[in-house]
Amino acid sequence: MASLTFWGAAGTVTGSKYLIETKRQRVLVDCGLFQGPRSLRERNWEEAPFPAASLDAVLLTHAHIDHTGYLPRLVRQGFNGPVYCSRGTADLLRILLPDSARLQEEEASYRNRHQLTRHTPALPLYTEEDAAAALKLMKVVINDGQPVRITDSIAAEFRIAGHILGSSQLLVRVGSSDDARRIVFSGDLGKYDQPIIRDPVGPPECEYLVVESTYGDRLHEPEPPKLALERIINTAAARGGVVLIPAFAVGRAQEVLYLIRELEDEKRVPVLPVILDSPMASAATRAYASRKEEHDEAYLSAAEGKANPLRTHSMRAANTREDSKRLNRETGARVIVSASGMMSGGRVLHHALRVLPDENATVVFVGYQAAGTLGRRVADGEKEVKVLGQWIPVRCGIEKIGGFSAHADWQEVIRWLTELPSPPRRIFVTHGELGSANAMAARIRERFNWPVEVPEHGQQFQLA
Ligand SMILES: [Zn+2]
Repeated sequence: MASLTFWGAAGTVTGSKYLIETKRQRVLVDCGLFQGPRSLRERNWEEAPFPAASLDAVLLTHAHIDHTGYLPRLVRQGFNGPVYCSRGTADLLRILLPDSARLQEEEASYRNRHQLTRHTPALPLYTEEDAAAALKLMKVVINDGQPVRITDSIAAEFRIAGHILGSSQLLVRVGSSDDARRIVFSGDLGKYDQPIIRDPVGPPECEYLVVESTYGDRLHEPEPPKLALERIINTAAARGGVVLIPAFAVGRAQEVLYLIRELEDEKRVPVLPVILDSPMASAATRAYASRKEEHDEAYLSAAEGKANPLRTHSMRAANTREDSKRLNRETGARVIVSASGMMSGGRVLHHALRVLPDENATVVFVGYQAAGTLGRRVADGEKEVKVLGQWIPVRCGIEKIGGFSAHADWQEVIRWLTELPSPPRRIFVTHGELGSANAMAARIRERFNWPVEVPEHGQQFQLA
């Protein structure tokens, strides 16, 4: 007898944590941080609802912090078992987990300096040492569908999910071979035909399936991002202006570079200086370039003809803060790709000081801008914004490219589900705001007539 309990990403998009228990063993699938509203973030501070030291292993679908960022906290609470993940996920975790720890430490020190804490002193959720301890537990596997023995009664298979580098869907097999229960976790499912990485492979046969629903009530924008980039770069080149692209360091920055390189090779845009101004994005770009097993056919054939499809023809990285500040003195048409993607911190801010008041410049949004961020205010057309403590006017051009997405939309989730060899007994819809999750559940019922659940936080199901 086994059970499955939803300790995160139930009716929300963050905090992914799914607990599989048998009489003797416990395995956690994903170990995500809750993000967003305070009521959710407070859950990160509660004692884990399962004794951390009692877990036999953690399995990770991919490196995003909402799937992995609780790991150092779990280690702090006594977890000391193996953490299974793909090679690409391990590469990105070495970049993302220490960064997440730094943010936690900075936030605690900010609270202490400004006396914004009920607890003195305010402590970080975890530290860089905790993150380093978590990274030591990683056990790297290949996401090619080969079974990996996790405990004496639990095995797992990792397959490409097409969301970011290393992202995997998991099949977890619980029990002995003749009466095993098979549970598939979609993880975050990629958009089909996304640049660089391979498309999601179809789900294997299973009794239970947990599927994400980030876009459960939406479809992607029809304009291909490549066309939008072509238009924006040509306009900027014609008027000699700078193009600033705030981009998430992992995934989006690499897609942008790849598409600019393609446009240059196809002579659809002139070769402009491209500056990658984010050490994290540079590190992630190296990881993306090195994991050949994840590359799609277009990338592989591009890589045969040239050294690196993620390098444009006139590209450099600004490695130090001084390099980055020197960029402010340069003039003429050029493209700066910098993090953070929502302009909520990082080097993109001092570019914003120069670029936002410049009528010749263009800011290009290539990802979601959360309410309350500087990116959202600029994208919404505010005429004056506060950057690094100064009020500055916004006079630059503003472009939004909606077609970039790392998630399957609802039609693509349905397309993926049609590849199941036989109907599962039950489907669980997670990783979506409640409206999205319910919409996705309704689409699945309508299309397949399978039993579908939208689990609540903490809800447990017996896997009979
Ligand atoms: Zn993700």
